[in-house]
Amino acid sequence: MKTRFLLLPTALILAAAPVSRAAAVVSIGHSPAGSAFVFDSVPIPARNDAASAAEFTLVDGERDSNGGLLAVLHDGRLPVEEDEPAANFFFRAGTDGGRIRIDLKSVIPVRQINTYSWHTGSRAPQVYRLYAADGAASGFVPSPRRGTDPESCGWTHVAAVDTRVRHGAAGGQYGVAVSDPASGKLGDYRYLLLDVVRTEDQDAFGNTFYGEIDVVNAQGPPLEPATGQTGESILIVFGASEGKYRFTIDATAAPDLAEWADAKLRPVVQEWYPKLVAMLPSEGFEPATNITLRFRTDMGGTPASAGGNRVNLNSGWFRRELRREALGSVVHELVHVVQDYGRARRLNAGATRTPGWLVEGIADYIRWFLYEPETKGAEITERNLDRAAYDASYRITGNFLNWVTQTHDRDIVPKLNAAAREGRYARALWEDWTGKTLEALGEEWKKGNEARINAARSSGGTVEK
Ligand SMILES: [Zn+2]
Repeated sequence: MKTRFLLLPTALILAAAPVSRAAAVVSIGHSPAGSAFVFDSVPIPARNDAASAAEFTLVDGERDSNGGLLAVLHDGRLPVEEDEPAANFFFRAGTDGGRIRIDLKSVIPVRQINTYSWHTGSRAPQVYRLYAADGAASGFVPSPRRGTDPESCGWTHVAAVDTRVRHGAAGGQYGVAVSDPASGKLGDYRYLLLDVVRTEDQDAFGNTFYGEIDVVNAQGPPLEPATGQTGESILIVFGASEGKYRFTIDATAAPDLAEWADAKLRPVVQEWYPKLVAMLPSEGFEPATNITLRFRTDMGGTPASAGGNRVNLNSGWFRRELRREALGSVVHELVHVVQDYGRARRLNAGATRTPGWLVEGIADYIRWFLYEPETKGAEITERNLDRAAYDASYRITGNFLNWVTQTHDRDIVPKLNAAAREGRYARALWEDWTGKTLEALGEEWKKGNEARINAARSSGGTVEK
């Protein structure tokens, strides 16, 4: 279970710049897809670091009662979901952060300080100033509230941290490491003070969800990973299109499927995600670049699903379908990631809604007619002819879309996709593009199938595939 498939690092280094008079360096890791707190430049969270036995005190500001106590910051346990208030400490909604003091109980050589956070939106990034003290300065104030500059009362300013991103989604996992690579330690300190501020004031929810704070003693024992996802995770991480896309297959919940996922699923994702993006363009569209596919055990009868940049895979269903429908179902879900039709409604209140049968039909058209045409999995046969309606969804609609593509408009699917993504889908578009109403197209398609099946039947041929 400790196997760690790490074929490429998950996270990007967004910044690594000297930030204060001391030679502290702030390294930032951001994993938008958020998986297991694995970053290039920031160590994974630990459970036996010097903070684990330290005393954490709220010097200023108010805890949000929906969140955990300060103890969650040094219990060596991480949140396992992206919105898990009780596993995080955060300041009260509507307030602007506060100050947290860490008392290490004695002066130690502090090698580095690492802070970890996770949320879906603006509560993910971290913004704070870090101060440190040995407590020996005359006039030292151990609990300086806001309004008192710590540097005026025996504290040293170590670093200013701000992980907010200018472009792209704020959400995901962040790891911050404050260290001094040149000397190997930040200094000899007993006290640390985090002056935490909110990430935004557009709404009441700008206070960061902090999951863990680690203080590394330069002379401490080797660090052991925190529990939660870290340390037990099986992650297959890879890129595509020269690093433009980054994928994580999280097989933590299905270790027995990791080998299959690496050997069979990875190449399909690598090849097909960029293909899907290319075949479904629209003006100004920026596809998701960090995609996580996660095996789950809590999906009931649903084989797979997609939401945003995440694809969920039902591990029980996959075990049964490895040699049959497994790969095709992932292609179908990746189409949903690329479709991103929720985007129109987020950007434009007047956006039209695209009917579900068409959303699913496009995903199945691509899957059955472009990804795996040899399986002939979406044929109209004697057995399903009576259900052959253009809006029957999934593979039947997929068959209809394939027919319209071949007989009326070879670009109908990309055109429908662009309209749906831009929130301007309308039935009239079918007539604009093919000269026939949707109903008329549906009739023509069905009649053609009836005629083909009847002809085969009367000639004694087999029509079932
Ligand atoms: Zn679907």
